[in-house]
Amino acid sequence: MKNTKIVATIGPASEEKETLRHMIEAGMNVARLNFSHGEYAWFEMVINRLRELSEELRIPVAILADMQGPRIRIEVDKEIVLGKGERIHVSDVAYREVFSKSKAKQPICYLDVAKMADRLRVGDAILIEDGVVALQVVAKHGAHAVEAAALADCRIKNRKGVILPDTPLDLPILSEKDLRDLAFVLGQEVDYVGLSFVGSADDIRTARDEMRKVVGDEARLPQIVAKIERKEAIKHLKSILKTTDAVMVARGDLGIEMPESEVAILQKTIIRESLGAMKPVIVATQMMKSMVDNARPTRAEVSDVSNAVIDHADAVMLSEESAMGKYPVEAIAMMAEIIEKTEESPFDDVYQELDLNMKTEYAAVIRSVYQLAKSFEAKAILLLSMSGHTARLISHFRPETEILVATNSKKTWYTLALVWGIQPFNFEGDANHDGYIDRLMKEAKAAGKLAAGDETAVFLGRTADRRTLDLVGIRRVR
Ligand code: PGA
Ligand code: MN
Repeated sequence: MKNTKIVATIGPASEEKETLRHMIEAGMNVARLNFSHGEYAWFEMVINRLRELSEELRIPVAILADMQGPRIRIEVDKEIVLGKGERIHVSDVAYREVFSKSKAKQPICYLDVAKMADRLRVGDAILIEDGVVALQVVAKHGAHAVEAAALADCRIKNRKGVILPDTPLDLPILSEKDLRDLAFVLGQEVDYVGLSFVGSADDIRTARDEMRKVVGDEARLPQIVAKIERKEAIKHLKSILKTTDAVMVARGDLGIEMPESEVAILQKTIIRESLGAMKPVIVATQMMKSMVDNARPTRAEVSDVSNAVIDHADAVMLSEESAMGKYPVEAIAMMAEIIEKTEESPFDDVYQELDLNMKTEYAAVIRSVYQLAKSFEAKAILLLSMSGHTARLISHFRPETEILVATNSKKTWYTLALVWGIQPFNFEGDANHDGYIDRLMKEAKAAGKLAAGDETAVFLGRTADRRTLDLVGIRRVR
């Protein structure tokens, strides 16, 4: 059993139902759908396959719909080759007609967001295709265009992503496309929604408001995963963490906006802060990149996954490796093996309890469950969690003891798939708390996780009206 979860991006390499089945069996806990590419019919097909497999295998696989967000793209009539120091005009697609008729000798490219070229200032960097192309604005050039110089020899290709790390963007967190995509994924009842290029806590509130507009006040919203990949987000990390439901260390874009050399340190900082705020955190991008083409990872990649486990991240993520690589199943199996080996080692054990936000009465009770399990060397922690909150609290302590969670909510069953160490079980129908623990013990016995005579740390939470007390104790499996 591994505690650290695996998020895998689904794409052409992994869309077949049998491939998805093998990915789940190899250890995929969360399937990520990247809304930068793909059509609704395809997403719907993949979601249906995943839900069918979860039911059939009785393994919850949460679905994370990752929104493209305010991504700027470059447009060129044809590929442009620039030597170091050579100059190019940069304008907006809105003025493409005008410029293409002019007889300017300099090459020109266009940003696909209205009025963006106007915001560029002399000295600002323009980074295209993950920083492969680096330009710097050297002059304003009349209305709606700037002149930029290439910092190295480069090729500008059509529709590549653009990062403007120095420019105040003021873009809405959700584009027109994102709003359409959001309505679609709400209809599909996905478990998590990824927000790209978050800059502030307001961005998260805006997204939540937009979701409410679609589904109304009563419905349970998907959990928001704030992708930390902008300088702005690092600046506002604390307030973002207060507001979001979960976090992704989006190392790809983060390493363009910030110096690459700081990425590992930023990863550690973001994970530590996320744990303090009790928000699940995913480490993403290039973890097993070489497995796009090779059946085995590099030693550096093995070390990267191991270190994310040692950092106590909730989950590690695959992108191209599982979406369009040659070895989607093998990449997951390899990740799972690295996770297991690392968790067996003593290096992930030392965990300083993060007391930051654990001051409530309820949190103190949950701590006592964790401590009881630890000092009694219980075989497992058993509890009920209807909303998932109690499960997230106990996970926060990163106990060495297995955590078996009963829930009567299918949505909670799926959502908890992302959370470190939580093994969720879904039971239909109403039972009293004792009834759930009995069913959980029976199920765990059938799954070979518990045996008669095992002693477990059990937590029975208070009723919603708070007329009963919380109950913490040891119970023997019959
Ligand atoms: P992306 O996000 O793959 O959607 O860009 C992850 C990252 O930037 O690392
Ligand atoms: Mn990104």
